[in-house]
Amino acid sequence: MDTNQQNDQNLQQYDLIVVGGGMVGAAIACGVAPAGMKIALLEAADQEPVWNAEGVDPRVSALTEASRLFLDSLNAWHGMTQNRVTPYQQMKVWEADGTGHIEFNCDDVFAENIGHIVENSVTLTSLIEQSKQFDNIHWHRGIRIEGISPVLDSQKDAEGVQRQVYLQDGRVLQAGLIVAADGARSRLREWGGFDTREWDYGHEAIVTTIKLEQPHQGTCWQRFMPTGPLALLPITFKGDDHYCSIVWSTTPDECARLMALDEAGFCAELSLSFEHKLGKVLSCDPRFSFPLRQRHAKRYWQPGLVLAGDAAHTIHPLAGQGVNLGLLDAATLVEELTAAWQRKQPLGIEQTLGKYQRRRMPDNLKMMALMEGFKRLYGPVPLPLRWLRNTGMSLVNNTPLVKKQLLRQALGERDGLPENAQVHLA
Ligand SMILES: Cc1cc2nc3c(=O)[nH]c(=O)nc-3n(C[C@H](O)[C@H](O)[C@H](O)COP(=O)(O)OP(=O)(O)OC[C@H]3O[C@@H](n4cnc5c(N)ncnc54)[C@H](O)[C@@H]3O)c2cc1C
Repeated sequence: MDTNQQNDQNLQQYDLIVVGGGMVGAAIACGVAPAGMKIALLEAADQEPVWNAEGVDPRVSALTEASRLFLDSLNAWHGMTQNRVTPYQQMKVWEADGTGHIEFNCDDVFAENIGHIVENSVTLTSLIEQSKQFDNIHWHRGIRIEGISPVLDSQKDAEGVQRQVYLQDGRVLQAGLIVAADGARSRLREWGGFDTREWDYGHEAIVTTIKLEQPHQGTCWQRFMPTGPLALLPITFKGDDHYCSIVWSTTPDECARLMALDEAGFCAELSLSFEHKLGKVLSCDPRFSFPLRQRHAKRYWQPGLVLAGDAAHTIHPLAGQGVNLGLLDAATLVEELTAAWQRKQPLGIEQTLGKYQRRRMPDNLKMMALMEGFKRLYGPVPLPLRWLRNTGMSLVNNTPLVKKQLLRQALGERDGLPENAQVHLA
């Protein structure tokens, strides 16, 4: 057999290759599959994730109504509700260093809930289950990618573009478009040579599940401290509403100290830091910590290659927006790719991908700027600014119109959303 024959045997042709079978990659595959494209979905992990009914996954997300609608359009939401989702109706935010506080209630915008706290494994397993309904989605698990074909330098070349993914086992996968949904440390972003703005927040986040003396009241709680925000997100576990998932963002030194404490010591510190708002913290699951970095690719596409989700942007978890932005990327990409496919246009060209970038980049940048502003404002600041901050927070709390606007944003309502994620409030 000559080398060309061998190469032909190793080449597998697809219409679309999605790299990364996380929440964003799996959602994109499920979203475009009904159009009939032949899709390869590549995931590095050998094992399919499992959801454990007997314990709470330490990684949870506060999903907005826009994300819920999109997941519902993929037929994944129903499966998620069969496992575990916790709706919340209120958010209470206050600061450690003063009297500033703000409270939101879904009744203010005549909505049933503000959002849902969902374990990442619940969302992902339901999307994977859904993806199996489609014969045209081919999962490749436990794969190792060695590289991708080089960047094309002219738009003219892009018209008939075919990009390749080279696997360690010698196989070559080819398609008109590769979607990089391979997470925050995306190798595809690196191989594609995408310029990225990146900086360290100087924060690490501790996540775990805790049991409290008092019920969570269907409320997301957030206390801003000079070292960083502490969030308690309600989880109803086997009908018991005394559980919360925590995201405690703090300085690396403080994180190391908190991680080194034994369970009783950590629970005591947490009760104190949370000002005993829900009584004592009675117990906590094993803790995990993550360094927090902000990243944003300066562009999201090049001929035959597009970035989505954390591969395009990572953001501070203080407002729980990371995967919500990623799911909106997914919903928008699904809309643009499906339309291009139906018009029989190539997927990997400016007309399709440039539009996706124009629709998503301003929204992502706005959210990132907001989070950076929050992080700075609530960090250690001089006394006059602290006074202003306190007054501002309470002022917003007493200004129903501004509060409603913020609440609508929290539900994910804004202009230009894809059809399958549009929130309509009264
Ligand atoms: C502490 C913390 C708390 C958070 N809380 C929230 C919250 O409340 N709300 C919210 O919206 N967001 C939250 N986020 C952010 C959220 O978790 C991420 O935005 C989300 O997981 C991104 O999804 P993704 O699919 O883009 O990437 P990932 O979830 O990282 O998935 C990427 C997938 O690609 C695979 N992969 C990687 N490299 C390769 C490769 N070379 N080949 C094949 N496969 C590969 C990985 O195995 C993985 O399965 C939080 C983040 C942190 C750190």
